[in-house]
Amino acid sequence: MHIDCANPSFKIEQFTGGAWGENSYILYHPQSHHAVLIDPGWGAGKLKRFLSSHSLKLDFILNTHGHLDHIGENHSFSAPIYVHKDDARFLSDPLFNLSGFTLWPYRSPEPARLLDDGDKIPFHGETLKIIHTPGHTPGSIVAGISDILFTGDTLFCSSIGRTDFPYGDSGKIIQSIRTKLLVLEDDIKILPGHGPLSTIGAERRHNPFLN
Ligand SMILES: [Zn+2]
Ligand SMILES: [Zn+2]
Repeated sequence: MHIDCANPSFKIEQFTGGAWGENSYILYHPQSHHAVLIDPGWGAGKLKRFLSSHSLKLDFILNTHGHLDHIGENHSFSAPIYVHKDDARFLSDPLFNLSGFTLWPYRSPEPARLLDDGDKIPFHGETLKIIHTPGHTPGSIVAGISDILFTGDTLFCSSIGRTDFPYGDSGKIIQSIRTKLLVLEDDIKILPGHGPLSTIGAERRHNPFLN
């Protein structure tokens, strides 16, 4: 599914699938054919077909956090992996990334860059801003560009991320959302790791976990 961005130089494609209904996103700059792959958890084939049919080259993979359903296809792409420093261990440890509880323990390739709160990653005239939002996992991040926020498993449409997995923290996720996301403008679009799209304004008014 195509999602519009306020900056017309960029395009975003959403892919949904896998046992846990995970959303992956390809953010791309059609003019230069460069792209960022966000949370390749499942379905490498269709992601690769999209990249090749649009002649896109991946600059990097961005993992919003280190759970299996967001990193499970990291190995399928020859691109550097970016993840927050507090979730780096999740990539290599199946008990952290939850694959250790399945029949297929998963170890991702090592990250090339460890992110921190406030990092700014230039991307073809725009900036991808990294917001550290601990709670769902210690190193969960939200990434913003133009009027778009990729919220991973921190903030969903009418819901928030689970905190009953190992290393989850229910107090921290609420604090992260209130202090770092709900302070943003109403018409910022949120593109979550599961489920439908929303906006900051809609979540501030209607999200039952925040009201
Ligand atoms: Zn998760
Ligand atoms: Zn998830």
